[in-house]
Amino acid sequence: MFRREASPIERFNGFRVVCFRQGRVNLAERRLPSSQVVFAPHLAIAGVFLQDGRAAVTEEWLNAEWLRQGAPSVHLPVAQKELLLWGNCLPIQPLPFAGCNDLWEADGKLVIAFKRTCDEHVQAVLTAAFVRERLLAAAHHALERFAPQLKQRPRSIAIRPLRARTLGQCTREGDIFLNVSLHQWPQEVMEETLAHELVHLEYFNHSHAFWRRLTALQPDWLRRSLVHYL
Ligand SMILES: [Zn+2]
Repeated sequence: MFRREASPIERFNGFRVVCFRQGRVNLAERRLPSSQVVFAPHLAIAGVFLQDGRAAVTEEWLNAEWLRQGAPSVHLPVAQKELLLWGNCLPIQPLPFAGCNDLWEADGKLVIAFKRTCDEHVQAVLTAAFVRERLLAAAHHALERFAPQLKQRPRSIAIRPLRARTLGQCTREGDIFLNVSLHQWPQEVMEETLAHELVHLEYFNHSHAFWRRLTALQPDWLRRSLVHYL
């Protein structure tokens, strides 16, 4: 654990500053190579390990140390400022120099941590994984709601990019594919797509029987049909 010391510096580069006498660097923090400065974007803290006998550091010292390490500004732009999730805009908060690439939700925001500077490719990979995970979890949740009425459960459900305006597909073997773009629409659209594909496991066509079965599964499917969104 850190042993905290009083510090004359309250803020640095937009981060709260805390001084430590000794301690171990948490994994969530980034220790600059040869200095005693730690940087914990997760906690919005820049920390300083004090030398023995040193009461505190000055802002000039911290700034000089920061520059000596060649650490660029922590406020760097990212390509995408928000993510559409279930039809709502989720603001993205970038956290450069976090020591690892990571993504999580906090206070209605999507926090994206970067090992070093903000990186569009890293952001795209992290948000794509996040979106797939959310879609898959919501799809499995909806599947359990539909399950008691199903004659056949799907062999698998996968999220993947599909052709534009194709929101779902299924195979005769029982594999269902949902378009990764479904996260942009209200969640009902994904549920409606899933219901449609689930009924195809029983009727591999768009016969009258298919639509009757879909109506039994989702009585209000027509009211909130995709035509309202596409
Ligand atoms: Zn169909």
